[in-house]
Amino acid sequence: MTTIASALQLVHQRIERACNAAARPAAGVQLLAVSKTFGADAVIAAAEAGQRAFGENYIQEAVAKIAAVQAHVPQLARQLQWHCIGPVQSNKTRLVAVHFDWVHTVDRLKTAERLSAQRPDGLPPLQVCLQVNVDGGATKSGVAPDAALALAQAVAQLPRLQLRGLMGIPDPVEDFAAQCAVHQRARALFDAIAAAGGSGLERFDTLSLGMTADLEAAIAAGSTLVRVGSGIFGARSYAAS
Ligand SMILES: *Cc1c(COP(=O)(O)O)cnc(C)c1O
Repeated sequence: MTTIASALQLVHQRIERACNAAARPAAGVQLLAVSKTFGADAVIAAAEAGQRAFGENYIQEAVAKIAAVQAHVPQLARQLQWHCIGPVQSNKTRLVAVHFDWVHTVDRLKTAERLSAQRPDGLPPLQVCLQVNVDGGATKSGVAPDAALALAQAVAQLPRLQLRGLMGIPDPVEDFAAQCAVHQRARALFDAIAAAGGSGLERFDTLSLGMTADLEAAIAAGSTLVRVGSGIFGARSYAAS
């Protein structure tokens, strides 16, 4: 077994244990493999080990990698799903709308409107999560919690987008209880928006919370999608990317 395949197996075991501890079915938590800074070879190794959903932060790096995977393993590439989990500046919305299946980092209506306008007609709607700033740093990206419902209801009206849920990237904290507390705030907001409902919110079913260091706390709080990078691919070297 490759290193990546055995690391994937360990991450699946962590997810299963966390689901058991939370009395949740393991099928209710999807694993997103965060392949930023790693090459197409790493994506292909993970895909050959059964992984299907990949997350990328840097748009240009991702577009080149997606093309390389398609060139190397065209059949397998058709089964993969690409999620944008990095910041989306206005000048990058077209690349995101054309190349990705999901985007987790929408935090303003203007970005959503551009993505909807630029999503090609031949593709299914772009699946969208709103990034929420649950731990409150004024300089952080993410919509403020008290503005999230209005943004959700506006994004839900855009024709080429499908609003799927919320995403959070809290600052790292060591302690399990503190990790749970901040993820719980995202969960409460998710529940409030789901309860408010409305047109375009029929598939509001995704809570994108948790990374390598805090996936257990995120699952305890109700995450339905954990984003794991170093736990699968190893430590990142930004200098080399
Ligand atoms: C890099 C990144 C991850 C993965 O982080 P790890 O700690 O390597 O698991 C998850 N989500 C986002 C938004 C990231 O930027």
